[in-house]
Amino acid sequence: MQQQNANFSQIIIEVIQEIFGPGPVSLHQPSFLGNEWSYVKDAIDSTFVSSVGPYVSKFETELAGYTGAKHVIAVTNGTAALHLALLLAGVSRNDEVLIPALTFVATANAVSYCGAIPHFIDSEDKYLGLNVEKLAEYLEESTIQLSGNCVNKKTGRIIRAIVPMHTFGHPCNMEKIMSLASRFHLKIVEDAAEGLGSFFYGKHVGTFGELGVLSFNGNKIITTGGGGAILTNNDFIALRAKHLSTTAKINHPWEYIHDDIGFNYRLPNINAALGLAQLELMSEFLENKRRLNQIYKDKLSGLNIAVIGDPPGCASNFWLQTLDLKDSSGKRLNLLLAESNAVGISTRPIWRLLNTLDPYINCPAMNVEVAERLTKSMINIPSSALIRPIS
Ligand SMILES: *Cc1c(COP(=O)(O)O)cnc(C)c1O
Repeated sequence: MQQQNANFSQIIIEVIQEIFGPGPVSLHQPSFLGNEWSYVKDAIDSTFVSSVGPYVSKFETELAGYTGAKHVIAVTNGTAALHLALLLAGVSRNDEVLIPALTFVATANAVSYCGAIPHFIDSEDKYLGLNVEKLAEYLEESTIQLSGNCVNKKTGRIIRAIVPMHTFGHPCNMEKIMSLASRFHLKIVEDAAEGLGSFFYGKHVGTFGELGVLSFNGNKIITTGGGGAILTNNDFIALRAKHLSTTAKINHPWEYIHDDIGFNYRLPNINAALGLAQLELMSEFLENKRRLNQIYKDKLSGLNIAVIGDPPGCASNFWLQTLDLKDSSGKRLNLLLAESNAVGISTRPIWRLLNTLDPYINCPAMNVEVAERLTKSMINIPSSALIRPIS
């Protein structure tokens, strides 16, 4: 078994080197192949580098066109987008919010910033999204409906919202999630931070719930350096989002009048300039990332592992390529992590479950045994859009 596992990780390492070339390979590296220099220079030349300038609205308009969202509000990062989106969904102090245990920590942090409490839920084992059937059973047992609110029987707190997260770019089953949310009276805020370019039956992720968010961090599918966006079809929410993200300042040529406790969350123009150029490259990025998924599938087909593909009816953006090593002991995972990182190939385990982290250890959680199993057998491997031509 030891010998077999050793060969197994060597084969994967060789395939990665064949695709990306020898030398260090990062997990996900941005590529700047288009108008990035020219737009950023233009923003600098104009002196409008900060939170006012034409690139912000251009970027928002292009994103709205691409995603089909009626309104897009660009903000400083995906975490800020989540924070504001949760507030606008009505999440307030002492509410609970259902979020996957298997997600990036920002999802839980944004809930905490609202004074609310994350309530951790399990994942499904094929595409790593929400386990809707299991969640329905759990909510059936552990909540009651009181004056139109979903109340946790154990804590007495209102469960206000659910945050489906499109893990590594694979869409959750939004049809099932929407029907569950309406059945239990939950608001939906989609964490589509990893999902730009991913579609569920032809509809872009992040546009199903009342609110959705995107991230343009350096490691995401396109980058603005740091950045994020709120997506919504609701006119009122869109106005509030823009107002609250710009310090709740009333429009006036010189007076400083703020009618609420706002946030300084607006995306700067210089970042939007970078984002606009990146957005022009989306189709190229998506094509390469889809091709990379197929190459991994072909080249690793002899091993007893699975390369995660598109969920049924969906087009994933393949943000991070993910292998299921089919070994619940964690042995294969640890070996591959050690051997690949030792030769400069960046591979990562999927996240530590958030309900096991210090700040969240006492939060309510359902049984998350599927997510637990996934953390022992799933690995992210190099996923950049820049790949060598390959036979
Ligand atoms: C990246 C990410 C975020 C946060 O985005 P930032 O722009 O880094 O703040 C939130 N949720 C998930 C699932 C992410 O992957």
